[in-house]
Amino acid sequence: MPIRRSAKTLFSKAAWRAYNTYRKGVHFRQQLRQTTALLDAPRETILAYQAERLAKLLRHARETTPFYRELLKAASGALADIPPLEKKTIREQRERLCSEAFSPNERIKNATGGSTGTPLTFYQDRDYWNQRNLSVYYFDRWAGWDFGEPQLILWGTLENSNWKHRLNAFWRNQQWLNGFHLTESAMRETYEKMHRWQPHTILAYPSALYQFAKVLARSHEESEQYQARQESPTRLKGIIASAEMLHPHYRALAESLFHTKVYNRYGSREVGLIAMECAEGQMHLNCRELCVEVDSPNPWTEPGEILITQLNNYAMPFIRYRIGDIGRLSDEVCPCGNQLPILAELLGRSTATFRTKSGALIHGGYFTQQFYHLTGVSQFQLIQETLERCTLKLVINAQWQEATRQHIVQRIREALGTEVTVNVEFVADIPLPASGKREFTISRLSTDVT
Ligand SMILES: [Zn+2]
Repeated sequence: MPIRRSAKTLFSKAAWRAYNTYRKGVHFRQQLRQTTALLDAPRETILAYQAERLAKLLRHARETTPFYRELLKAASGALADIPPLEKKTIREQRERLCSEAFSPNERIKNATGGSTGTPLTFYQDRDYWNQRNLSVYYFDRWAGWDFGEPQLILWGTLENSNWKHRLNAFWRNQQWLNGFHLTESAMRETYEKMHRWQPHTILAYPSALYQFAKVLARSHEESEQYQARQESPTRLKGIIASAEMLHPHYRALAESLFHTKVYNRYGSREVGLIAMECAEGQMHLNCRELCVEVDSPNPWTEPGEILITQLNNYAMPFIRYRIGDIGRLSDEVCPCGNQLPILAELLGRSTATFRTKSGALIHGGYFTQQFYHLTGVSQFQLIQETLERCTLKLVINAQWQEATRQHIVQRIREALGTEVTVNVEFVADIPLPASGKREFTISRLSTDVT
């Protein structure tokens, strides 16, 4: 078996090389070396590179897009003076945001579902995709990933029976557990497979990882065979958690069960990889591809909305894009040795910010925290329908007690107001939306900043 495993890894490494050479040209290896050298460089070098790329992008936007030609006519040229780019503006002015230097067939269409259910369509160019992949290769190595080495993927896919998906998984040396249909038997089967196949890394939606870990933890308690499995050594080097919030209890359970570190990777379909957690637990910003700002009077002490400028999507420049997440910056240098600036806090989706009748804003994290230690609840979702009414969807299990219901409703009312009606709905399942990002808290009230 080990010989077969090594042969598969060697085959997959060669396939990766062929793929990257086909996509990015024969100088691919040199590009990856340059990317690595820059992201490992002293902070002054990285920031100087970023400033140079930013000046070039702003010039390109002003000269080749109708939207920025008009907007930047009277602007000083400083990034902070440019109004943030709202999702609403992208929907309404999509064509005017596109660069005239690219013909429509040179643009690659991409889209995101968005937590408000309003899809956002945008364009990216080929070089953007090449650069985005280079960043992912670089940062995933922090978690132990490398080309061709076996990886287990717990991710949502609608195409798992499609031959193209299966072929890709084969040459990339990946095994998939579909996050859209997580059944207990599929999870147990995947765990058996893991022992035969010994993946080096896991890439997962945090919620899928948590569900997987929960089922395994229960199996370990029930069966000696599982217990022995859990104690046997593995080749797992790290777990990459991406695409939704990594809650502390998710991380704690996964790390104790798999005996390895979970690395939080923050990214989005619109702008690619934004930040990656290092071995010291700090989130380093991808300054080679992005400028990340925090819209706050003091971004180092007060959290605010994250604004992102993409430095290498020339087909449709995103300048100060309001992505919908809240964060705080840090000016510290991380003890891990990497000098990329740090995102000190990431507080999640601003669309899950609730509003009270008196105008106060309650971060969705408040509500999710109420459920951390409630063993009777398997899944939950809180929806603010109006200022007077909320719906709480609960998937409960055998440990559920009726007193818990009153407790939760009370905690919700403490935050939103005693006059608020909380309709509790017991449901069999809370399906993932098409975007694959699980939303624990949803606000139907408009949070678009005007
Ligand atoms: Zn670090």
